[in-house]
Amino acid sequence: MDTPLFKRLALIGIGLIGSSIARCARARGDLAGEIAIATRRSETLEEARALGLGDHYTTDPAEAVEGADGVILCVPVGAVGPIARAIGPHLAPGTLLSDVGSTKQSVIRDVPPHLPAGVHFIPGHPLAGTEHSGPQAGFASLFEGRYTLLTPLPGTDPAALARLKTFWERTGSMVELIDPGHHDRVLAIVSHVPHLIAFTICGTADDLEDESRQEVLKFAASGFRDFTRIAASDPVMWRDIFLNNREALLEMLARFIEDAQAMARAVRWGDAAYIEDRIRRGRRIRQSLIALRQA
Ligand code: NAP
Repeated sequence: MDTPLFKRLALIGIGLIGSSIARCARARGDLAGEIAIATRRSETLEEARALGLGDHYTTDPAEAVEGADGVILCVPVGAVGPIARAIGPHLAPGTLLSDVGSTKQSVIRDVPPHLPAGVHFIPGHPLAGTEHSGPQAGFASLFEGRYTLLTPLPGTDPAALARLKTFWERTGSMVELIDPGHHDRVLAIVSHVPHLIAFTICGTADDLEDESRQEVLKFAASGFRDFTRIAASDPVMWRDIFLNNREALLEMLARFIEDAQAMARAVRWGDAAYIEDRIRRGRRIRQSLIALRQA
């Protein structure tokens, strides 16, 4: 077995993503010599302890990063700034600091101002997840066959970047580098707008008068059911994503609304060819996802 990439890996946040990293590191042995876990609430910490996810447990992130050569922030994107402020003075020079947040420009805005010189900060985002949250929800194979996007800043130390790339590759992930602004626009359309639509459509159904609402639940066909699965996602995580990817989300949403209105117009005027063409495009996209093994 290869030597562990980090002597001590600190995971700040131990929900779905943090606990999946911990499980994978535990199962493989070549990611981290020891794992320090910090989370905000003592209930979550006790859950993590009961699951045996780490070697050290604390509710103080500054304590978790003492002596760590690798730190990954696994908290909602709105929380990374205050956490960086708390851990900054405790990070040793040479430490590799990364995150898993779903927005990248906001993390790059919020974290670096709190970091001492000599800390290698490389933002990241594994494109892997489920609608479940908390330490129980994680599993070791979550990242297998999934992309992890890294958005290194100009001047990033190549050795630190190579180490983080190897880390994610050992989880089974395929790593790509991407510009942070581009990341946020792409994620807006592939993830953030679909979630916004799912939350909205569930709200629309819930606003129907009583009798119809009962029937929506009773006869929920797969279309609506699929939306409810996405809409079951964590409210704080998604609140933070929407608020921290505002421009890209609003831009992609405006484009979606235009296209939805074009579809509505085709329905109103009986433009069968337009409707069929749009449906065929949707099918083709699904088929190409299956071909790329991402569906
Ligand atoms: P999660 O299961 O809800 O876990 C969140 C963790 O962050 C918990 O340990 C929680 O601590 C802690 N936390 C929450 N609010 C905090 C705050 N204000 N200050 C400090 N700690 C806080 O979340 P997750 O799904 O693992 O997501 C973590 C990150 O990964 C997010 O940035 C998300 O955007 C990103 N991500 C998620 C997915 C996904 O599908 N879920 C996929 C890729 C990336 P307590 O429980 O102790 O309060």
